Amino acid sequence: MKKVVKNGLVLLLGEDGWRTEKLDVLIDGNRIARVAPGIPTDGCDVIDAAGKLVMPGLINAHTHVYMTIHRNYADDLAFFEWLDKVQKVEDGMTEEDIYWTTLLGIIEMIRSGTTCFVDMTIKSAQETSGPRSAAAGAVKESGFRAAISRGLAGVSDSEESIMKFGQAVREMEMFKDEERLQFLHGPHAPYSCMPDYLRKLTQSSRERGIGQTIHLSESRGEMESIAADRGGVTPIQYVDSEGEFDIPCLVAHCVYATDEDIALMARKGVSVALCPKSNMKLGNGFAPAQKMLDAGINVCLGTDGAGSNNTLNLFSEMNAAGLVYKGATRQAQNVDAGDVLKMATVNGAKALGREGELGVIAEGALADLILIDLNVPQFIPANNIVSGLVYSATGSEVDTVIVDGKVLMDHGKLTTIDEDRVYEEVRKIAERLTKQ
Ligand SMILES: [Zn+2]
Repeated sequence: MKKVVKNGLVLLLGEDGWRTEKLDVLIDGNRIARVAPGIPTDGCDVIDAAGKLVMPGLINAHTHVYMTIHRNYADDLAFFEWLDKVQKVEDGMTEEDIYWTTLLGIIEMIRSGTTCFVDMTIKSAQETSGPRSAAAGAVKESGFRAAISRGLAGVSDSEESIMKFGQAVREMEMFKDEERLQFLHGPHAPYSCMPDYLRKLTQSSRERGIGQTIHLSESRGEMESIAADRGGVTPIQYVDSEGEFDIPCLVAHCVYATDEDIALMARKGVSVALCPKSNMKLGNGFAPAQKMLDAGINVCLGTDGAGSNNTLNLFSEMNAAGLVYKGATRQAQNVDAGDVLKMATVNGAKALGREGELGVIAEGALADLILIDLNVPQFIPANNIVSGLVYSATGSEVDTVIVDGKVLMDHGKLTTIDEDRVYEEVRKIAERLTKQ
């Protein structure tokens, strides 16, 4: 049945930036069919949005959702100490564990207004167990939307690398008919992926017509090791020399991107997912965000995993992005609220090659939208809605969430996931893996 989201204040993006208008939104199947005032409701389900903002669902452009198991587990540690501690837990995880911990992350994202995420499952040394397996299975069953990658590392001819590559490809085949799932290749990082493996993944991406996502220039240690091992270049220049930027590429972090790196990524059409909270928490620093925006790079926003954030809440991440790049550069004009909101919506869509389909409320776009309660103190007075979303909102204002035309949260109640069961299962996994 068609749905009409009635009487809401709709957030639109035009040539002059963001604006709001009192409009109705007609949803037919999984698409937005019309955005106009006074849409007739005969024969339609009506979603009353009076007193609410109707806006595009947020897109989390970089995360490892299964890492909810690491929430508040490895804190206040330097980057490589942290990595070592979380990887030991990952080694004990099964595909079933990843399924439940991903569902937990999806609950958290729905409750805080995210409708799509770009995932990298690093852990997965076991055979893909079936259609319920791991992150893709959790996305499929919950009605959510995601772009999934397997984080691949090593040399191309090692037994484990061959097995994991095969697993990634089989997963793409298994879920190829799922419209809400998109796949990317995910070479983990230049320090964990040897050149031959990077080339193999780039070749595979080209053959399959898919993009890639990778961590680059995240820590000072990475900059030093790549410079030492690869002839003095930066991680960004190194992977470009291996052909990685000749296919669509979404790069996470870029904290240490140089001016030359920024020019290179702009020239090659690379998208960057900033993760300001993770970068601060792991003591890595602040990406040159405004320089990237000025260079015309498509800058997106990600939470990274809950092991280094420690939430998957993009409202909290928008708040951080709106503040820290000003503080780090001592320039209050830098990375303004309108840009931050674009990072978490349209820019994320563009990074996935889904411009016009995701991250916007427009006729013909996929019906991924959220309703925000404006009748809360942090939105009163409503002097500037965009500023409110970035500087005042917490994510708790999210009232209703629609993904692919289906209501996944109705006035705060989840419709596709048994929350109590998920909490119970994840607590059991934690007893086994993080509570010894
Ligand atoms: Zn990451």
